[in-house]
Amino acid sequence: MPSARPLTEEYLSAILEANERVNLTRITDHDQAALLHLEDSLVALPEMEIAPPGRYADLGSGGGFPGVPLALATGRETLLVDSVQKKMRVVSEVLEQLGLDSQIKTYGGRIEDLALEQPKAFAVVTARALSSLPSLLELASPLLEKDGLLVCFKAPVSSDEARAASIVAPLVGMELHGQRELVLSDGQTRRMILTYRKVRKPALKLPRRVGLAQKKPLSE
Ligand code: SAH
Repeated sequence: MPSARPLTEEYLSAILEANERVNLTRITDHDQAALLHLEDSLVALPEMEIAPPGRYADLGSGGGFPGVPLALATGRETLLVDSVQKKMRVVSEVLEQLGLDSQIKTYGGRIEDLALEQPKAFAVVTARALSSLPSLLELASPLLEKDGLLVCFKAPVSSDEARAASIVAPLVGMELHGQRELVLSDGQTRRMILTYRKVRKPALKLPRRVGLAQKKPLSE
């Protein structure tokens, strides 16, 4: 019998169950997971809606957040990307069990390698808990089509990080499009959403060698 439970909740329950076997997420308490995996993921819906139509990639997706809730809420064709293949294998099993595998696929590999295989293939990419803004800008740029959006889930950003991002953005052909800050329903968790648009070709060849975007950001 079809279940009335929203698919996102079914997905979350299945991930928490799988998490007992394979380490997918640190958050194991159900209420915390509902807050940090479901509510927080969906915070970026307005940004997803202003992105051009087309494919969506969630970079450093781990257990599939924010990628799966945003894929289900928008109906976009989605690719979850994580270099830990074991995580992507488990996530892809869960997606298959829930019948979501035709819309949402997984890529067990580095973001830099995906950019070589599928350059400019995405209209929107997200990243939560992955890297600093300068690294995210560099990793996302070669994946995005012209006018595509990078949506970053950050804790409030320090002025140093913001300054470094403003140096890297023009180098990689990206421009700040918007930023907003909010507090989740627990009244405590502060979330900052920064959105960048791909406005032109990067000034250097991207991706650089695997690892450099995160180890040696262009702002250093
Ligand atoms: N977005 C998830 C997981 C964050 S942890 C969440 O918010 O819950 C960051 C994840 O990014 C890890 O699973 C790590 O394996 C992955 N990661 C880090 N650098 C990467 C890279 N260059 N390519 C692909 N995955 C990467």
